[in-house]
Amino acid sequence: MIIKNVRVLGGRSVDLRLHDGLIAEIGPGLTGDDETVDGGGAVALPGLVDLHTHLREPGREDAETVQTGTQSAARGGYTAVHAMANTSPVADTAGVVEQVWRLGREYGHCDVQPVGAVTVGLEGRQLAELGAMADSAARVRVFSDDGKCVSDAVLMRRALEYVKAFDGVVAQHAQEPRLTEGAQMNEGVVSGRLGLTGWPAVAEEAVIARDCLLAAHVGSRLHVCHVSTAGSVEIIRWAKSKGWNVTAEVTPHHLLLTDELVEESPVGAYNPIYKVNPPLRTRADVEALRAALADGTIDVVATDHAPHPVEDKETEWSAAAMGMVGLETALSVVQEAMVDTGLLDWAGVADRMSAAPARIGRLPGHGQPLEVGAPANLTLYDPSGRTPVDPAAFASKSRNTPYEGMTLPGRVVATYLRGRATVLEGKLT
Ligand SMILES: [Zn+2]
Repeated sequence: MIIKNVRVLGGRSVDLRLHDGLIAEIGPGLTGDDETVDGGGAVALPGLVDLHTHLREPGREDAETVQTGTQSAARGGYTAVHAMANTSPVADTAGVVEQVWRLGREYGHCDVQPVGAVTVGLEGRQLAELGAMADSAARVRVFSDDGKCVSDAVLMRRALEYVKAFDGVVAQHAQEPRLTEGAQMNEGVVSGRLGLTGWPAVAEEAVIARDCLLAAHVGSRLHVCHVSTAGSVEIIRWAKSKGWNVTAEVTPHHLLLTDELVEESPVGAYNPIYKVNPPLRTRADVEALRAALADGTIDVVATDHAPHPVEDKETEWSAAAMGMVGLETALSVVQEAMVDTGLLDWAGVADRMSAAPARIGRLPGHGQPLEVGAPANLTLYDPSGRTPVDPAAFASKSRNTPYEGMTLPGRVVATYLRGRATVLEGKLT
């Protein structure tokens, strides 16, 4: 197959020949007997890799399944996702991670790499079978109790020590539990005005500081999930300056949205569509997160795609579930927050949304530069134009997007997984 007229990382127009799941040739004016498609001058990026996706299967198939979640990922330009462990049952044994891995092989519209839980049942009391999950067919390398924090320092230390044996990484959801009891939104001016219990920045920052010190002490790899505050950025910058093995991610929504939306938004006040963990923060935090992603202090954009059925979101604020879907809007939000602001070019986007997450997750076959001989995992993206976000068009089973009523730039034109189109003209194949 030949894809005519694409711009690799936004560069000059070239053609790509795909053969046997690989990129076989790159150059101008490719011809031959192959099937030809017109890339229309789209930006070609290596297939996106998400380090942080909630696929909800097994257990909450009313919110999402491996099939619908990976369809949503493909529409967003992703060729691989890491499936978080807070399913039911929890992915804390070789049996459950292999079940998710098999579901991915059978129904996946992108590759599915299971994440293993750090503690049994995400309960924070006893380490899960990390080694058995690493040795399983799912070959788990990322371990996380995401949704909950591994708040016990001794357990966190043991987990960091344990994963060294197989080059694993502990991905921490940094939330000091006592400081966030009953917390509803960012602690600040807006929470004070609205009378909602505040979620202080220090609850995140204290855990990140502790974990950076622990990772350095045992010489292991720490990954910080969904960094949301300017103070967290400062701590991670300091840890990296020491040469410690610490990486971090930021979500698209924390790069664009602020806690002011809880008070005043296109969809009214107190709308639980904006309720998320960690909470939306202030404009100053958003600016610090953007700068940190631009200078590499934050390594990765990860979606924290968190589908919830309508009945769990369209309820009063205090009772609503926390989380937002994000796979199908991630690239457009990153364009809005980072590319159109001049903070990141397309090579930078390829690094933060493909190369770096694949490297941190030790995921083979993904995140490689678009070169001859590389796997033909690629995303074609048209950055021109703006369109209203239409949740009804999502492939996800859930519709809890904070961008309804907004317009976003760009669109994913096509996604290729090992040379096979999973999305063409923006539609699932
Ligand atoms: Zn989390």
